[in-house]
Amino acid sequence: MGWWSKDVHSMNDLFVHALRDIYYAENQILKALPDMVDKATDPLLKQGFEKHLHETEGQVKRLEEVFRLYDAEIQGVDCPAIDGILEEADTTVGDADNKDVMDSALIFSAQAVEHYEITRYGSLIAWAKLLGKPECARLLEQNLAEEVATDKALSQIAESGVNQRAAA
Ligand code: FE
Ligand code: FE
Ligand code: FE
Repeated sequence: MGWWSKDVHSMNDLFVHALRDIYYAENQILKALPDMVDKATDPLLKQGFEKHLHETEGQVKRLEEVFRLYDAEIQGVDCPAIDGILEEADTTVGDADNKDVMDSALIFSAQAVEHYEITRYGSLIAWAKLLGKPECARLLEQNLAEEVATDKALSQIAESGVNQRAAA
């Protein structure tokens, strides 16, 4: 059973594993976002993806700082969950044959990504505090706040006309 049986013996190992998981995920998201910017038609949605692309670059830097503060080697581990979410996003968005429906599909897919990130940051923050690393927790909290704000902004954009246009 992969990492679970082999590499994770302690809470410390689990924290580092989870950090590498989200580090990999953020880097995959960074690769996926330019395509989402391109595909979005609604100007607010396009701007929202652009903004989150810049935020994600900063999030990767913060994670690298967390690795340094924790004295762990900066590296990613495969995250089949984010790979699956992004693969599904590709298929769902690719299947939309109308611009308005595509915007709704982009929001639908992006919110799945944000929710994955939110669960990971929630655990990482709690564990960083438990492990006596409040500076790590603070950096992770900044990432979490951006994911939560992005999720809310996506809901607002969906409800401010994108969904209605897609349904028309
Ligand atoms: Fe992120
Ligand atoms: Fe994962
Ligand atoms: Fe995000």
